Amino acid sequence: MRRASPVVGRLAPSPTGLLHLGHARTFLCAFWSARAAGGRVLLRMEDLDAPRVRPGMIDAALRDLAWLGLEWDAAPLVQSHGLPRLQAAVAELVRRGATYPCVCSRAEVRRALSAPQAGEVEPRYPGTCRERFPSLEAAERRAGRAAGLRFRVPDGEVEIRDAFAPPARYDVARDSGDFVVSKRDHTPAYQLAVVVDDAFQGVTEVLRGDDLLPSTARQWHLQRALGLPHPRWIHLPLVVDDAGRRFAKRADDLSLAELRARGVDPRAVVAWAARASGMVVPERVTAAQASAAFALESVPREPVRCDGQTLARLFAARG
Ligand SMILES: [Zn+2]
Repeated sequence: MRRASPVVGRLAPSPTGLLHLGHARTFLCAFWSARAAGGRVLLRMEDLDAPRVRPGMIDAALRDLAWLGLEWDAAPLVQSHGLPRLQAAVAELVRRGATYPCVCSRAEVRRALSAPQAGEVEPRYPGTCRERFPSLEAAERRAGRAAGLRFRVPDGEVEIRDAFAPPARYDVARDSGDFVVSKRDHTPAYQLAVVVDDAFQGVTEVLRGDDLLPSTARQWHLQRALGLPHPRWIHLPLVVDDAGRRFAKRADDLSLAELRARGVDPRAVVAWAARASGMVVPERVTAAQASAAFALESVPREPVRCDGQTLARLFAARG
């Protein structure tokens, strides 16, 4: 099904570590999906997670993406350069009464819970600071410390329609509670930044790993609160290793920089990612050449296994 308006896809790496084969596959699919529809592709560096963003990582990510043969149709948007835009969106949420100040530390949120929750990185926020302070300034004065802002999540489930993943219902209020949109250091938080910058860049299609599905429901709520359109979401299963574990951005994982340093032909990496995504392509192919072979219906529904044999073959594919 083709949409009447032109597709605008995006590549949005977080420069907190080296990019690996899992990223390569997701970014290539995002590129292919937009290009196969005759659309544009934009690049955004999600570098707001200050303590985890290491110097040089933006340049490293740019080199990796260019090495893969990915192309983007405008200058990259670096999120940290657009703080006034993001802060204006936070102010708009405050004006609409969609937020409240919160002075809780992470440790306090954890202690406030009767039992720790398994599988959740962030503990559910129990609403401690709801209706507690009239303003951010008052909260900081009264508490004698910095305050962030949380989004008041409306009660009830939302259904997230995805062009690939099965439809799913999420109850954000129940599962994660009111979430942070402005951190205690007064910088915009991740979910807010994604939503505002997707709209700012005119992104119509968001293709990413299905580990981000739970984030999607939070973004859905923020889009509604800010009067922004929902993009077409496409969440693909991740790339996993021999043991079925997801590739993560750890130093010991296989990075694209390492493949490049060892002289691997990027066209072999592209061909691997394409075939793992149900595409029929030659053994070596550029990202642009492969675009026409992409069809979302042909992408396998299960995680892509990148085992030792696959890696050995990739390492043998010298340029
Ligand atoms: Zn609080």
